[in-house]
Amino acid sequence: MNFNKNDENYIYEVISKNIKKYRKLKGWTQQELADKINYSLSFIRGIESSYLHTFSLGALWRISQVLEVDFNKLCEDNLASNIKSKSIVYKCAKCGTETKFPTQLIKNLKELNETSGNNNLPSFNCTNDNCDGRIFPLNTMDF
Ligand SMILES: [Zn+2]
Repeated sequence: MNFNKNDENYIYEVISKNIKKYRKLKGWTQQELADKINYSLSFIRGIESSYLHTFSLGALWRISQVLEVDFNKLCEDNLASNIKSKSIVYKCAKCGTETKFPTQLIKNLKELNETSGNNNLPSFNCTNDNCDGRIFPLNTMDF
């Protein structure tokens, strides 16, 4: 669904996408997020599918607190830029966990590394808390 910015549905769409994104970064299911803020699963489903328009500012605040993201990040408009900025998939060599990063972010990190003579692609610690592996880009052709 794509809403016009002049339509108030737009902000619900933005918030739903952001909550989903930050929830997934935490590795939580909708049920897990619901449990952490003491709301029902259907409440989280409603927000994330952007059809529920009756949640309070307080509920959003609690969500931002448990997700440990700045409140304003939940309202950050990435809808337009998501279309043009591609993401790159990283995969853990040890446990197989896949994580997506914005390609632009990785390119910036790579350029930063190169200024200090490191020409390797950036790699990170595994996003799975129970794993001590490293994650590497699945497809280096993305660069
Ligand atoms: Zn791993």
